[in-house]
Amino acid sequence: MSSVDYGSAEQYTPQRIDMENLTDENKCDFCSAQCCSYITQQIDTPSTMHEFDVLLWQIAHKGIHIFKDDNGWYLLSMTRCTHLLSDNRCGIYETRPMICREHSSGGCEYDVPINEGCDLYFQEYDAFDAYCRKRFKTWDKRLEKFELARKKSEQKEAEKQNKK
Ligand code: SF4
Ligand code: SF4
Repeated sequence: MSSVDYGSAEQYTPQRIDMENLTDENKCDFCSAQCCSYITQQIDTPSTMHEFDVLLWQIAHKGIHIFKDDNGWYLLSMTRCTHLLSDNRCGIYETRPMICREHSSGGCEYDVPINEGCDLYFQEYDAFDAYCRKRFKTWDKRLEKFELARKKSEQKEAEKQNKK
């Protein structure tokens, strides 16, 4: 199993309040609604260099993370739910989606950081780029190869035009 790579920038630092008698029932009162501050989407397991290149483009965007756990690969977007109120409570509590209802405060993000238990967790471009470089021997050469092919195709097109 690969080791977890946390990258170097914008480390995920869960809020912790050292309190005695903190329970699953009352801890939401002291939390900044960590469970309502991101979304995840499972993605097809990437295998080709092109698929990893697409992920590299995605993780170049602020707040986009990539992780892999026992269930597969995911994109994670750090984004607060628009229904969160200023006191970190849900503004649509009575009609909130099922996934919110199913989420339990027992062993939630407050206790276990999102990246814990992941085989791989990337938070920034450079860490993912380094992983791809390690995974594909020709990772850096792909750019050169692409530009060369583009040049050739442009030359061919120019030759065609000249013949007309
Ligand atoms: S369920 Fe957990 S992560 Fe969500 S608000 Fe409560 S303590 Fe925070
Ligand atoms: S709908 Fe409510 S419970 Fe669900 S993510 Fe938004 S604020 Fe959180």
